[in-house]
Amino acid sequence: MWIWNRLLCAVGRHGADRGQARHDRDYWWSSCKVCGVQLMRDPVDGWRPPNASEIADHDAQVQRGKTSGEPAVAPE
Ligand SMILES: [Zn+2]
Repeated sequence: MWIWNRLLCAVGRHGADRGQARHDRDYWWSSCKVCGVQLMRDPVDGWRPPNASEIADHDAQVQRGKTSGEPAVAPE
C-alpha cells in the first residue's frame, strides 16, 4: 500500500530492493523500492541511508573494483 510504504520511509524504514543489491566488500548497497533513496545494509541497524563519509568510501570501493581486474596488457 503506497501511503503505508511512504510512512515507513518517513520514519526511516525503507524497503530495500534486495534484487538490485550490490556488495562493495564492506557493505551491501541498494535503493529503496518506494522512494528511491540510496541504502546500505548496516550490520547492526539493517538497511539505512548512508552518511556522507560512507558514500565516499563506497565510491572509492567501486572505483577500486573497476581497476582491480586483469590488466589489459601484462606488465614486463
Ligand atoms: Zn524509502
